[in-house]
Amino acid sequence: MISVEEALGIVLSSLPGRKVEQVSFQDSLNRVLAEDLSATCNIPPFNRSAMDGYAVAAADAANAPVELDIYGESRAGGGMPGMLPPGAAMPIMTGAPVPSGADAVQIVEVCRLSDDGRRVTILKPVRVRENIAPLGSEAAEGEIVLKAGHRVGPAEIAVMATFGYSRVQVWKKPSVALFATGDELVEVDQVPRADQIRNSNAYCLRSQLANMGLESEYLGIARDNKGELREKMILGLERDVLIISGGVSMGEYDLVHDVFEEMGLEILFSKVAIKPGKPTVFARKGDTLVFGLPGNPISALVTFECFVRPALGSLCGMAQPQLHRMQGELLADMKQSSGRMAFFPAWVFWDGGGLRVEPLPWKSSADIIGFAGANATYIFPRNRDHLKKGEQVEVMLLPDFFFRQR
Ligand code: AMP
Ligand code: MG
Repeated sequence: MISVEEALGIVLSSLPGRKVEQVSFQDSLNRVLAEDLSATCNIPPFNRSAMDGYAVAAADAANAPVELDIYGESRAGGGMPGMLPPGAAMPIMTGAPVPSGADAVQIVEVCRLSDDGRRVTILKPVRVRENIAPLGSEAAEGEIVLKAGHRVGPAEIAVMATFGYSRVQVWKKPSVALFATGDELVEVDQVPRADQIRNSNAYCLRSQLANMGLESEYLGIARDNKGELREKMILGLERDVLIISGGVSMGEYDLVHDVFEEMGLEILFSKVAIKPGKPTVFARKGDTLVFGLPGNPISALVTFECFVRPALGSLCGMAQPQLHRMQGELLADMKQSSGRMAFFPAWVFWDGGGLRVEPLPWKSSADIIGFAGANATYIFPRNRDHLKKGEQVEVMLLPDFFFRQR
């Protein structure tokens, strides 16, 4: 059975080429840039005052306190100021151009204006260039300010606005379809019969996709017969990525494998040494990637995070599409005997001294209720069946880790 790392390696080396699209810069939030953006002008575009105060020649204030004549004014957006004559000071506001003839700005707090407003006493000397951001000091025209491969956040949007990039090239989002399988499933608004349960995986998976900023086409529930599976597969194969929940285990009605083979899919792996989620299948048909995830709710959730997310993230242009992993101190003795790499629910928190990992009680890979309070999973390495309290363990932070509240 292949390891989690090997399986991920297969997924990431099976991806089709990525596509680029042009979007409004505001729509590029949380997307990955597919082009370098360079400065279309110098920033600042002039020698800019960083403070409210008086523009002076530093040499004139060297023997401060010194009284200088007031000359003109420079305010943000008030036009370019004239030249400052020697022995004079110009009132200047934050963001305004420093006049030629001045090489420093003394802050208003250490200046005293005369009663008639015609002279100012500079109380302390000021260094050359003090409180001035020189022309081009943040970006020189032509310099690359955002690199291709960079994920766009609010600050990057501001950079785009600064340089007038109203449209930018980003990696195209993959189109995704998904369906659930199972004769026992009914939809959320239905009342299950004694032998039925409600379909939860489709909604969990769609939420995981939504968390990645991806829309998905939900194809409904396929009953456990080849005809219905084939029907939904045909629709799903139109998309870049198809996700199927359930029907991949060894049972007599787990027909997803057979249908994959009959429909000519190339099966790239069909078992992984992961717990939960051993029967995960990964296949390909043309440029469409197909993930068959086990139906137990935690299995579906965890295998999405371990295999589907990295594939989708990479298609979206992310260089590091996996969830973040960290080390933390385990707060209880834990056992497992699967011989597989295991991902179990945890509450991970910072207590001032370090990252702590509190394992959450849960009953099985079906127990989504027990999993629902988790902000991370802790990881049992494949060759370990016992982790000791106090030991440093690896944790995989769930995507909304920073927003979770206990
Ligand atoms: P399967 O992978 O189809 O063998 O299903 C494994 C377990 O997960 C069974 O107990 C199913 O009833 C359950 N299951 C399958 N699909 C879903 C789903 N969409 N929502 C909730 N539970 C499911
Ligand atoms: Mg089933």
